[in-house]
Amino acid sequence: MYHQNSIKILKNKILQIFVLLFLTVSVSLLAYNEYKSTMKTTVDNLNEKIINFHIETFQKLSATFLEETNKNFIKRVSNDASLRENFERMMYLIRISTVQNLFVITQDDDKNYYFLLDSEKNASLKADIFEPFNPLGDLWDKSYQSKQIEVFHHTKNNDLWITVAYPIIEKDVVVGLIGADISDSLDVEMQTRLQSFTHFFLFMFLLSIFWFVLLYTTTLYFRNKAKEGYIDPLTRAYNRKYLYEIVLKKLPRTYQLFMLDIDFFKKVNDTYGHDVGDKVLQEVALRIMKLMRDEDTLIRLGGEEFLIFTSRLSRSQCFELAERIRESIAQTPIVYEDIICPVTISIGVNPTAKKDADFDAMLKKADDALYEAKNSGRNCVILSS
Ligand code: GH3
Ligand code: MG
Ligand code: MG
Repeated sequence: MYHQNSIKILKNKILQIFVLLFLTVSVSLLAYNEYKSTMKTTVDNLNEKIINFHIETFQKLSATFLEETNKNFIKRVSNDASLRENFERMMYLIRISTVQNLFVITQDDDKNYYFLLDSEKNASLKADIFEPFNPLGDLWDKSYQSKQIEVFHHTKNNDLWITVAYPIIEKDVVVGLIGADISDSLDVEMQTRLQSFTHFFLFMFLLSIFWFVLLYTTTLYFRNKAKEGYIDPLTRAYNRKYLYEIVLKKLPRTYQLFMLDIDFFKKVNDTYGHDVGDKVLQEVALRIMKLMRDEDTLIRLGGEEFLIFTSRLSRSQCFELAERIRESIAQTPIVYEDIICPVTISIGVNPTAKKDADFDAMLKKADDALYEAKNSGRNCVILSS
């Protein structure tokens, strides 16, 4: 059973969701950092592995180009179709399965790139000589300027893609670039990490959804109860209808019954008026709710009489709770506009109520205890024996 104090419920739930969101975000950030650094190390390692493997090939290729053209590589390749064919066949032969494309590009006087050689065999994919080359990114410019091998890598699905630019240097001048697109699969460890990362996010996502659903249904439940006419509009406590239609049908095997009655309430109405009386009723209910647990139920039985159902409380715990409620009302007078109204309540408790026994008899025990409390001077707690 939910606590009747809707504001308390909402505050609690909102706080819980904030804490959860905060935890989700911070843990996710930590995990994401971990993921990024692992990813970077793995990519760097793989990168290095691939570059080390290919660098010798690029060196040899570049050396062969220059050796066989003797000098003026660009001019001779541009003019000699059979030399081009030789080079392209050679490039095709040294291409291994992970190399998707292997080609040579160079710059014209306006620094536009164009193809010089392409090892592609498929005629429809093969770039023709002088065909413009569209440089994606600044990799090619960088290699021209640094005169060094330059590498660009990115991941696509679970594959790692590396594009390499290797400068062909003739008399200390970069005359062209050997370009290669290389792909490789991420290793198993990386894939497992990626997977657990995805699972983690999925888990957090589902958890958040679960919480939102919980909040939503709690609010809905509460609203429905109000709609069904189970809530007393003045005090927000449940009403008699709720007692007979819901509470009595779902009683635990044993429970404790508290009956509370405001002392001399008629006097409050007579002295200060009905409005102050209403305010007193509201404030008394609010103070009671604050001391109840979420599973306890507060019912406005009628007038200025309330019932509390609790479970799993011992005799002494019943007395303590009743005393705390009594004190919380007696200690601080209730204020309405400029009227200060001291209020006390009397409480009778049946600490040994049983589901199997007749409810009216259980109620009478609490009522008798209340009657005794009234007779003992009010503002006190009596437990039935
Ligand atoms: P006791 O200490 O013996 O309980 O004295 P009492 O005056 O509290 O007892 P009694 O049951 O005679 O008084 C209950 C009064 O509560 C009578 C009625 O006018 C008032 N009352 C009942 N319902 C409401 C309400 O919704 N608002 C207001 N302001 N007063 C109410
Ligand atoms: Mg009374
Ligand atoms: Mg009364």
